[in-house]
Amino acid sequence: MSYKEIFSGMAEELKSMKNSGTVAAYIPKLCEVDPDKFGAHLLTIDNQHFCFGDSNEKFSIQSIAKVLSLAMAFELEEDKLWERVGVEPSGISFNSLLQLEAGKGIPRNPLVNAGALVISDILVSSLKNPKRELIEFIRKASGNAEIAYSPAIVESEKLTGFKNAALINLMKSYGNIKNDIDTVLDFYFNLCSIEMTCKELAETFLFLAADGINPLSGIRIVDSSKAKRINAIMQLCGFYDEAGEFAFKVGLPGKSGVGGGIIAIHPDVYSIAVWSPKLNSKGNSYRGMKILEYLTTRTKSSIF
Ligand code: GLN
Repeated sequence: MSYKEIFSGMAEELKSMKNSGTVAAYIPKLCEVDPDKFGAHLLTIDNQHFCFGDSNEKFSIQSIAKVLSLAMAFELEEDKLWERVGVEPSGISFNSLLQLEAGKGIPRNPLVNAGALVISDILVSSLKNPKRELIEFIRKASGNAEIAYSPAIVESEKLTGFKNAALINLMKSYGNIKNDIDTVLDFYFNLCSIEMTCKELAETFLFLAADGINPLSGIRIVDSSKAKRINAIMQLCGFYDEAGEFAFKVGLPGKSGVGGGIIAIHPDVYSIAVWSPKLNSKGNSYRGMKILEYLTTRTKSSIF
């Protein structure tokens, strides 16, 4: 089945699918979204676009942005990065404190909240103007100067970010956070607040399908070995305690966010962004996962 046929069949496919789950409520601002929204945008490395539904509407990309902060820190720190964060799947929810104590403050991977907080600490240490340089890096990856933080989401996360405060304090006690806690949390909440449409998300992540170069602009974002490794980390850790399920059903490296977005990469072929706000019990988009399963099943193509 071609991408065109799959995208034309998407409305029908969605009709037969329940919109199960709940919108993330622990960040109050995320509750304001219409739970019935659905968007999808697939972009091939030779610049063919296929889209469906609300694919041009901005939403909060949340933890999907952790892949971009990882890419930036990996470029800056090279393999020194792995002294402070691991590359193992967590098998536990994204904001759990459980493994941190056993790991003496070293998070299992850069995509759980604890890992992304350590990456944030590293970027705060090594950049002169961390928030500005991060958004510029993301704009370079996406080829889009309009990508921005959402101050309203930042404020909303600050009001209820008790788990993140607990994680960062625990890591500070083990010496794995070097900067002032509030400065790092502010950077992290800004990272999570970035808004994009499905189209912008697919464009931003296309470099991971093309050995580290954005094929639309020709600009290198990371070297090819790092692109391979970032994809490996997404495959193993991108869906937390549902990473196995995503590999089993979809078979692509990917990353979810509690705003209901998912990015998935088919190396050398395409990137695809989907958005449906209601989350399953693991904090991943319910319909987003299902529609990606439909895609790789119908195309009979995944990395496996
Ligand atoms: N900002 C959210 C948090 O810190 C990100 C979680 C997510 O998208 N999984 O909890």
